[in-house]
Amino acid sequence: MVAKKEPRFFDSKENMTLTKRQSYYNQALVKMVRLGYKKSPSVKKIFDERNLLPSEIKSIKDLERLPLISREELVRLEKENPPFAGFCANDMKTDRIFTSPGPVYEPHLTEKDPIWGRGYYAAGFRKEDIVLNAFSYHMVAAGLTFHSGLRRVGATVIPSGASSTENQVQLARDLGATGYTGTPSFLMAIIKKSEEMGYNFKNDFKVRRASFVAEPLQPSLRERFEKEYGIDTYQMYGATEVGDIAYECQAKNGWHICEEVIVEVVDPATGKQVNPGELGEIVVTRLNPIFFLFRFGTGDLSKLMKERCSCGRTSFRLAGISGRVGEATKVRGMFIAPSQLKLISSRFGDIKLQALVDRIDFKDYLTIKVEAEQEGPEKSRLDHEFENIFKEICTVKIDKLEFIDKGTLTEKDGLIVDRRTWK
Ligand SMILES: [Zn+2]
Repeated sequence: MVAKKEPRFFDSKENMTLTKRQSYYNQALVKMVRLGYKKSPSVKKIFDERNLLPSEIKSIKDLERLPLISREELVRLEKENPPFAGFCANDMKTDRIFTSPGPVYEPHLTEKDPIWGRGYYAAGFRKEDIVLNAFSYHMVAAGLTFHSGLRRVGATVIPSGASSTENQVQLARDLGATGYTGTPSFLMAIIKKSEEMGYNFKNDFKVRRASFVAEPLQPSLRERFEKEYGIDTYQMYGATEVGDIAYECQAKNGWHICEEVIVEVVDPATGKQVNPGELGEIVVTRLNPIFFLFRFGTGDLSKLMKERCSCGRTSFRLAGISGRVGEATKVRGMFIAPSQLKLISSRFGDIKLQALVDRIDFKDYLTIKVEAEQEGPEKSRLDHEFENIFKEICTVKIDKLEFIDKGTLTEKDGLIVDRRTWK
C-alpha cells in the first residue's frame, strides 16, 4: 500500500493562479460589500455619505474610495455606538465575542473558520505535535484563536496560557511538548527557567518547532533558537480586530497574506495604495459575513512583495514590519522608518548613522551622516556599497552622504531628524 502523501499546502487556495486569485478576491469583496450595506447601519452610512453605491466597489483598487478605520477610531466608534459600532447586523449570530484594551469588542467567526491554521500548517505543525500555547485564554482573542488554528492542523494543544515559566517548563517536560506558540521572549524565559532548574533544554526537551506572534522576532534571537536549541522558528502576523493576516513559510522570506483577508499597503495620509516594494501602512479587510469592518488600519508599516515565493504559494507577501506609522518620516513620497536605518546599520557592523531631512527649493533633500574611520577596509566598503544598500532598503536615493568622526553621534541625536518647515 502506498502511504498517502501529505498535501503541500493547507488547502488549494494557496496555489491558485493569479487570475483565479484576483477573481476570487473581487467576488468575495463584492459579496461582503453588498451584505454589509444591507445589514450594517454604519457601512450604509459610510457609503451614503460618499454618494457611493455598493455596486461601485468591484475590486481591491476600488476600496480606496472608503475611509481607513484605525484602532483608535474603532474604539471611539464603539464607545459612541456600543458594542460593535453598528458594523454588525442586528441579527448577527456568532460563537464568541472577545475584547481587547480600549475596550474594543470583537465578534469572531465560528470555530470552523481556518483562522491561524494556514500559519501553523506552513510552519510544519501536524497531528503528531503536542503544542504549548502560551497565550492568554482570558477575554482576549489570542489563546482561543491560536488554539483553533493548532486544532485545524490536528495538533494536540496544551492550553498553558499565562502560567508561570516554571509551570510551562513542567508541562513541556512531563507532556513531551514538541512545539511552542507564544512570544519569542517568553520562550526564551522558559528556556532560561529550565536551565535554572538544572535541565539542558536541547537534550531534555522535545520542543523542535515554534511559531511566534505578537512580538517582533529579532534575527539574533532567531539564530539562538535555531542553532543553540535546535528549534525551527516561524512568524505569524495578525491583529485582534481582524484575525490572522500573514504567515511565514519555510522559505522564511516575507509573510504570505492569508486567503481570508484583503491586504492593502497604503499611504496613511491619503489612504491610496502604494506600489509594491514601497513602504506604507498595512490595511486589512477580513472577508466575512458578520463583522463588516472595511479597511482596518493596523498602524504597522510594511512593503508588499508580488514576486513568486519558492514554496509554491501564489499569495503576495508582506516584507515583515518596519515599525509604526507615527515613527516614519516621508521623504519624496517614500517612508523612511527607524527600523530600516537600524537594518542598514547592522549590514555594516552596527555603525552609527543619522538621517536628516531638509526642504531645499521646494524639494526634499536627504542627508545621511555615517560615523566612519577616514580610511581602511570598512571605509572602502562604505564608499562602495552604502548608497546602494540604502536605496535597496529605503527605496529613496541619498542626496548627500557625509562621513563623520566616530563618537560624534549620541543617543539623543535621534535616527531621523526632520528639519523641514512648511511655510
Ligand atoms: Zn512561501
